[in-house]
Amino acid sequence: MKIPKEIRTFCPYCKKHTLHTVEKAKKRQRRTLAQGQRRFLRKMKGYGSFPKENPKGREKPTKKVDLRLKCKECGKMHSKKGFRTKKIEIK
Ligand SMILES: [Zn+2]
Repeated sequence: MKIPKEIRTFCPYCKKHTLHTVEKAKKRQRRTLAQGQRRFLRKMKGYGSFPKENPKGREKPTKKVDLRLKCKECGKMHSKKGFRTKKIEIK
């Protein structure tokens, strides 16, 4: 999927449509002690078993992409996320 470098979309800060520069969002760092991690550590403590794995199914052929948009008028960043595509190209 090809995406233009600049798109005109809604800016929640200006509360109107403005030009935005598009950037692919980078992956965030893992939270070290998120709820799931804490639960895992508790389960692993003491006697007892390893937590059961989640049932494995077919893997999805595409990944969700997040985009970061920078408003040209106020210079603030906000994000647009959650659409699936195999490949993304910003040009
Ligand atoms: Zn703005």
